[in-house]
Amino acid sequence: MSTSPAPAGPLPGRPDVQVIDICANLAHSAFADDRADVIATAHAQGVVAMVVPGACLASTRQAMALAAAQPGRLFATAGIHPHAVAEAGQNDVAALGSLLHDPQVVAVGECGLDYHWPEPPTATQRALFAAQLEGAADLGVPLFLHEREAHADFMAILKPLRHRFPGGVVHCFSSGPAALSAYLDLGLYVGITGWICDERRGQELRALVRHIPASRLLVESDAPYLTPRDLPRAPRRNVPAATLHVLRVLAGHRGEQPEALAPQLLRNTMACFPKLARGITEHQAGLWLPP
Ligand SMILES: [Zn+2]
Repeated sequence: MSTSPAPAGPLPGRPDVQVIDICANLAHSAFADDRADVIATAHAQGVVAMVVPGACLASTRQAMALAAAQPGRLFATAGIHPHAVAEAGQNDVAALGSLLHDPQVVAVGECGLDYHWPEPPTATQRALFAAQLEGAADLGVPLFLHEREAHADFMAILKPLRHRFPGGVVHCFSSGPAALSAYLDLGLYVGITGWICDERRGQELRALVRHIPASRLLVESDAPYLTPRDLPRAPRRNVPAATLHVLRVLAGHRGEQPEALAPQLLRNTMACFPKLARGITEHQAGLWLPP
């Protein structure tokens, strides 16, 4: 008896490059009129799944509602973004903790520190970041981390608690090669956004991505923000389908073929977010996924 060999790539009729967008802000009002179309278009073009990040208790609940309506295609995270900490309190942290048990909630976050703007106060940011890590420690849920211009304080809070989480991803980091290697040493994945497509802001990132092992890379759109500047007739509103473009540009700066890099990134995403891997396997039967 012979068994037919497993297909070597995406099934016939599937896009040749498939990605998972780990950060699509689909609860945003920019998608109020055509959210279903935006999601369906991205999926048809090869964005096999999208993670909708929570930024506060209310947006976490919105993200969970979206994920519940499209299981296996949309997933949520539960957290308080550093930009939203001024309105949040310890009660919100406790409420988020209970949401982390939901099968659609694949990570705690976005949480972290962002010192780019003068507000919210850095002390408030640090307190809420620490409280979220302590509240989610030992629950087996990975981290979705945001760090911008705050590397030293971020490490001081994260490092002592890192071993109490299975893993996670850090994105938006802007603190250069030393910060990058510190995050890689912590065993974290690195999320690459459309910044890499920006010939001005993305310069340092372009140089750095060659030094990130392929096994640690994830990609994201951050839609509706961060529209890749090099897209022809770049629309003001970014969409999750742009994750495919981010992957192509990333591969180009690494001297790799997108078709070769894409399966590695799918594997990384599913390793980083085990609940997402289970959801895709359960609900998208027939989808080609790399072994
Ligand atoms: Zn972020």
